[in-house]
Amino acid sequence: MEKTVSMVIACPNCKGKAVMTESIIEIPYFGKTLFSNLRCQECSFNLNDISSDSEKPPTRFSVKISSEKDLTTKIVKSSSSTVKIPELGVRIEPAPASEGYFTNIEGLLNKILDSFSFTYFEEEEKDAKKLKEKLIKQIEQAKTAKFFFTVIVEDPFGNGALISDKAKKEKLNEKEVFELKKRMSFLGH
Ligand SMILES: [Zn+2]
Repeated sequence: MEKTVSMVIACPNCKGKAVMTESIIEIPYFGKTLFSNLRCQECSFNLNDISSDSEKPPTRFSVKISSEKDLTTKIVKSSSSTVKIPELGVRIEPAPASEGYFTNIEGLLNKILDSFSFTYFEEEEKDAKKLKEKLIKQIEQAKTAKFFFTVIVEDPFGNGALISDKAKKEKLNEKEVFELKKRMSFLGH
């Protein structure tokens, strides 16, 4: 069952009137999930986030993508989640302005293509343009499962998940949780 509430709050960007809409939606194999959208009427600020309705342990999910079917694996990503694809050198950091979403791996790859500005590239190359072109080509190939890659979702609050029979689920240890939270406070959470 879906329940939606709206309220007017101060925009974090311009302090103008922003509308916060929250819905609770049941995600199969994840549970009740809070979807929120903040949209400012005065500037263009628009932010989606997602979090679990109940307290969950700090968790790491990982899945090997090796077929077109694997691309339909569902991903729950919160603003507190770190998403990594080592084979592509992609790492999406948690941040208050990091968008939360519920999509599948193909949708994730499309979002990565759309939001290069929020994506940190691990690999350092002199020619950034060349790297970007190379990455776009690799992501296009990944979207048709032309090569195998791994998707990792880590969340110190258990707000992120990968949903598939193939996905591996591990509890994060204390040191890993400490490191993730330290990174989050450094990034402005
Ligand atoms: Zn605003």
